Formats: sequence, C-alpha cells, structure tokens
Amino acid sequence: MFQLTLCILKPDVVRSPRLFNEIIQLILQRQFIFVKSKRLQLSRERAGEFYQEHQQKFFYSRLVHYMSCGPISCHILGRENAIQEWRSILGPTKVFKTIFEAQDTIRGQHGVTDTRNCGHGSDSIATAQREIGFFFPEFDMKSISKYENLVV
Ligand code: ADP
Ligand code: MG
Repeated sequence: MFQLTLCILKPDVVRSPRLFNEIIQLILQRQFIFVKSKRLQLSRERAGEFYQEHQQKFFYSRLVHYMSCGPISCHILGRENAIQEWRSILGPTKVFKTIFEAQDTIRGQHGVTDTRNCGHGSDSIATAQREIGFFFPEFDMKSISKYENLVV
C-alpha cells in the first residue's frame, strides 16, 4: 500500500552536511519521494509534546533536551509501505542491537547513543497521521492520491 510517513533527521545529522547528504541520497535510492520538507528548531515544550508518549520514561528529559538542542530536518516521505521501509533503513532504536545485527542501517553506521540515534520514523498509520499533522499542519493528508503515481 502506498503510504506517507514522517521522517526526522535529528540534530547530529543536520549539524553534519556530509552525513545529511548521505542520508538524503540513501532515501532517494530507496525510492522514496520527498513530499514536503522543513528545517526547524523545536522549543523544549514542542519537543516534549511531540514525544508525549514517552513522558514517564527515564530518558524523557534527555530526549527532549536533545531534540531541542539544534535544528532538525523534517520530511513527509512517500512510498509503497513507507512506514515500515523507513524504519527498517533507520535500524533498531537501541545502539547495542546494531552491533550484532542491523550494522548496515543508518543507526548502525552513525548512531552515537540510544538517544542520539540519527532519525525518527512513524511506527503506524495513525502515528504517521498525527506526526505529519504536528509538523505540517498545512498539509492535506487526503492529497495522498496525488503522489501515488509518482512512485517508480
Ligand atoms: P523509535 O525512535 O525507534 O521509534 P522510541 O519511540 O522507543 O524509538 O523512542 C523515541 C526516541 O527516544 C528514540 O529514537 C531515542 O532517541 C530515545 N530513546 C528510546 N529509548 C531510549 C533509551 N533506552 N535510552 C535513551 N534514549 C532512548
Ligand atoms: Mg517511536
């Protein structure tokens, strides 16, 4: 099924133009289309709101601090099965898992810690809708049919 997903490239990636370009090229090679893109810096409040599901976790304040420490790059990606495909290119959340498996993923190659793990990907259709709306309130999700034919 053709899907849209929200991709965030986190502050460490945006800080490094070479890594940023490498990841953008990889996304294009994997036949995603960039439907919309935006670079912005989150306030602590907005970062906290975005990750509200993790409010009770021990890493929440670390995560909120990190996500608001510098500019991030947000993208609506479109592709067949985009949600799962982007998460599989990204790799597992926890860095130790990439030592034994999934070395050949973005997090496996460039992840620094469990928090500083390069990117974000929506984990379900409902999450993708919420997250796309969070960063791109002006985007009409119903316009998805316009992009379907662009997939190679
Ligand atoms: P994912 O980004 O793979 O969907 P989660 O939704 O579980 O992972 O967590 C959101 C983000 O919180 C992660 O991408 C990572 O930056 C951070 N995080 C998750 N688990 C940990 C952890 N155990 N320690 C530190 N940071 C974490
Ligand atoms: Mg998640």
